[in-house]
Amino acid sequence: MKISVIGCGYLGAVHAAAMASLGHEVTGVDVDTAKVEALTSGRPPFFEPGLSELLVKAQERGKLEFTTDVSRAADATVHFVCVGTPQKPGEFAADVTYVDAAVESLRTHLTATSVVVGKSTVPVGTAERLAGVIADTGAAMMWNPEFLREGHAVEDTLHPNRLVYGVADGEPGQAAAATLDEVYASILAEDTPRMITDFATAELVKTAANSFLATKISFINAMAELCEASGADVTQLADAIGMDDRIGRKFLNAGLGFGGGCLPKDIRAFMARAGELGADQAVAFLKEIDSINMRRRVRMVDIARDALGGSFIGKKITILGAAFKPDSDDVRDSPALAVARLIATQGGLVTVTDPQAIDNAKKSFPELNYVADTAEAITGAEAVLLLTEWREYRDLDPAATAELVRGKVLVDGRNVLTPELWRAAGWTYRALGRP
Ligand code: NAD
Repeated sequence: MKISVIGCGYLGAVHAAAMASLGHEVTGVDVDTAKVEALTSGRPPFFEPGLSELLVKAQERGKLEFTTDVSRAADATVHFVCVGTPQKPGEFAADVTYVDAAVESLRTHLTATSVVVGKSTVPVGTAERLAGVIADTGAAMMWNPEFLREGHAVEDTLHPNRLVYGVADGEPGQAAAATLDEVYASILAEDTPRMITDFATAELVKTAANSFLATKISFINAMAELCEASGADVTQLADAIGMDDRIGRKFLNAGLGFGGGCLPKDIRAFMARAGELGADQAVAFLKEIDSINMRRRVRMVDIARDALGGSFIGKKITILGAAFKPDSDDVRDSPALAVARLIATQGGLVTVTDPQAIDNAKKSFPELNYVADTAEAITGAEAVLLLTEWREYRDLDPAATAELVRGKVLVDGRNVLTPELWRAAGWTYRALGRP
């Protein structure tokens, strides 16, 4: 099938390449010329495992092109809308102007057989409103929220654990769903569960899922606060409660908390939208989830300063990790960079290293010092803070690392190191929620 993907960022570029790998003819459209040029030459404009190979293969087979010209997508049957929905500056609400602009740019190319499929995360009510915007073209509107995880985006797109279709009532909705079934035929053939809902439910599934995940993380981080107050160990606590099937161990890793381009802005947008709908009490608890999450960053700084004897002034602090999570170069609302900035404002001489995210971090926070090589970044440090749990940081050797530093202070912001090993090598080991 001929399809288009409007918006080729973390979500759209992967979606476009994945759809081409399923055999569809895909036109990826983005307003960012540099992004389109990079994608056209087979270079993903961001780091995502497996994406480069998928892009190159699809382009070699002539199945995938990228353009800034939306009219090149005019003959597509299905148009996926994958543009950003960031937090509005100074507000909790999501900025849906990119989604509106994307749909508007498609309008003149739509016919009665076209299907516009929204994948962006939007405030509930958006799909219904946009269905009205395109009603006169005869095209169908659907909402098919995306659940991919950065770092696993290719796998998650090609093998999702479920597909959700939000459709209009009656025959038009069923026809649109049948078209999307054709697009996803080989995914559905793997017995992937597929649910058909109304627009509002599909939109809420995404925000509810992200709210639940954020809640699980902040729950264990709240327990970490109690562990810090009482001398208990939150990793053992998580292991023990996680053995109960009703709770489960996943997403119970206490540490520096969540960040990135989704969870923080999505729970805030959810609160804002609930307020507009007069249902703010229903998700008022998310304010506390957000607060617990943000408190971890401050606590991390406090622990590091305490481990250094009460002051950062003039001390070299090495931060391992700039991305908001490992296997990504995404630094949007990165907890690691937030901590780096706080320490710099308190007089620390901060050096940040990361295997993939330095270029992006530099664009957001040019005032920090960046070193690509891990050993070079660590050399001469008076404290090392592990803030993004990349494999290579988890595998650091305590004895070899000790040879590089001036002060053997290590703060494990992700609870991924073995304290006994580091302490045995002479390190002062500190962590969030662990004695
Ligand atoms: P992103 O900022 O990486 O990408 C958005 C892209 O849209 C940019 O390249 C931008 O240039 C382009 N764009 C903006 N306006 C456009 C227009 N009118 N026409 C064409 N292109 C346009 O954002 P992202 O992380 O890919 O997120 C996109 C959406 O997907 C958001 O709603 C997000 O919440 C949701 N989502 C993201 C993820 C994720 O892990 N990143 C996962 C699930 C859902």
